[in-house]
Amino acid sequence: MQTAGIHHVTAMSSDAQGNRDFYEGVLGLRMVKQTVNFDEPGTYHLYYGDGLGSPGTILTFFPIPGLPPGRDGAGVTELVALAIPEGAAAAWRSRLDRLGVAFTEIGVGGVRPGLALADPDGMRIELVETGEVVAPRQWDAWVPAGMAIQGVEGVTLASHHIADTHQALASWLGLESDAEGVFRGHQALGGRVRVRDAGGESVARLGAGTVHHIAFRSTDAGEQLQWLDHVRRAGGAPTPVQDREYFTSIYFREPGGVLLEIATDPPGFTRDEPADALGSSLRLPAWLAAHRVRLLERLPALETPRQESLR
Ligand code: ZN
Repeated sequence: MQTAGIHHVTAMSSDAQGNRDFYEGVLGLRMVKQTVNFDEPGTYHLYYGDGLGSPGTILTFFPIPGLPPGRDGAGVTELVALAIPEGAAAAWRSRLDRLGVAFTEIGVGGVRPGLALADPDGMRIELVETGEVVAPRQWDAWVPAGMAIQGVEGVTLASHHIADTHQALASWLGLESDAEGVFRGHQALGGRVRVRDAGGESVARLGAGTVHHIAFRSTDAGEQLQWLDHVRRAGGAPTPVQDREYFTSIYFREPGGVLLEIATDPPGFTRDEPADALGSSLRLPAWLAAHRVRLLERLPALETPRQESLR
């Protein structure tokens, strides 16, 4: 079996408004869903992506007020690269300068030119130029279409058993590696998985600014059942299928320690609100609907990024 590639990346953060100001206001992604953490409904689960939150463009966060910073190390995803159009690094350089966001240059000399920066909780991000522009489904974004983030270019896993991680990416997920040892599926844009040898390093500690897991794509619920069986036979220990409202999921840890998920493309974020209203109000699954008023009292206010200078 072979996954098309990355479906979404989920990370931990602290302040919800600061998270939204950065991913929507600075990076120009669309907040396609505001809901709660189904395992901890007193806290948010925020989803960002292209105009529809298409698989491969999605970043999701669990903002927990006061959550202490985590620490990268063996067993986590330590870097998330986002694809920008060829030549767009210059526009991002001036935008980040104007907004006071610190960055460093990467890929000097031509290979993967771009910028390295950190989100407000310290999560490492790269904006990387790629020719794989897929014309993301636009909305009234905070950045012009010509520089818009196209999706997840790739992630870097810090593995404490790199050979076993390589083997799992190939045989569990069906990803193919190139001459540089970069793995990917067959989707048109990005979804690359790079692995860094973190053998001997101390184990990562989850907290604000660390990636929680990486999800890969399954075409539908029927194929996901095949994935469940396939991962189990390959030596993994997947959870039963879990309903996440906008997709269903199975989770398992690869041998290098990183938590992975396989999530279905359907039904997607238009399941419970129209495309032009995505992310505009708190959405709750049916089993939490009766608690709406109490949850709204408990959740911090979450407003559209406001500063006109963000445009
Ligand atoms: Zn997930």
